[in-house]
Amino acid sequence: MGKVGTNIVWHPQAVEKQARARLKRQKPCIIWLTGLSGAGKSTIANALDQFLIDQGFHTYLLDGDNVRHGLNKDLGFSEADRIENIRRVGEVSRLFVDAGVIVLCSFISPFCADRQLVRELVKGDEFVEVYVKASVATCEQRDVKGLYKKARAGQIKNFTGIDSPYEAPQQPELLLDTESQDVDACVAQLVAVLRGQGYLGAF
Ligand code: ADP
Repeated sequence: MGKVGTNIVWHPQAVEKQARARLKRQKPCIIWLTGLSGAGKSTIANALDQFLIDQGFHTYLLDGDNVRHGLNKDLGFSEADRIENIRRVGEVSRLFVDAGVIVLCSFISPFCADRQLVRELVKGDEFVEVYVKASVATCEQRDVKGLYKKARAGQIKNFTGIDSPYEAPQQPELLLDTESQDVDACVAQLVAVLRGQGYLGAF
């Protein structure tokens, strides 16, 4: 990526993140859901999003497929493009956090280093990594979008879990096993972590 131009200077802004967050009575953060295609990231993210909005919190959901329709429509699935995909999403998420929002990110994000890069864009407690876990066999059986079938037939190259690696998080803030727990149980676990660690409610 290019360096910041020499004549580009950061302007201090009058309103700080805390002021925006206080208005919303929440602690902004990035809830980063990572896992194989079909593991359950979008389903859980949408259910959590609905729950939080119903409770009066201000959230925004960034989803892999949707982002690729706009901001990242120039990117493919080569290793370099996947890295750039996550980098851009990380930067956008950081802006949302600055705006006081709880950002839900649903991305396969197969590489540890890329997720680490996003983690480092924000403060330590502003990144909540959630490993949405299901085996390749289970995801392939679910095959929600028919993508595994296509990947097995060689119609999709670099498909995570088939001919492209997935690096599981070593120390996620939360692991959700979607083979042994249903959607409601997964969402309940997430909400418990958010409540327990003070993300929800006045502060
Ligand atoms: P991803 O976003 O990870 O690609 P999706 O959310 O699109 O995955 O699809 C996951 C599929 O698995 C859905 O059909 C969903 O109904 C099913 N599923 C079964 N159990 C769970 C669970 N505990 N959490 C989330 N999804 C689940």
